[in-house]
Amino acid sequence: MLTKIATLFLVFIAVLGMFGKLSLLIPKRRKRTAYCSNCGRHIIGKGRCSCGQG
Ligand SMILES: [Zn+2]
Repeated sequence: MLTKIATLFLVFIAVLGMFGKLSLLIPKRRKRTAYCSNCGRHIIGKGRCSCGQG
């Protein structure tokens, strides 16, 4: 029983680590490939589109 719980705990931590890495990688990609919700253009810089509504 204890070995089963230990292995499950290790797997749980491994999965959490994977998700942590993914959550760290995804926002960086989103920032680089940000699109305006209004006109659909690439947003470069602080996050505001040149159309002023994005
Ligand atoms: Zn825009």
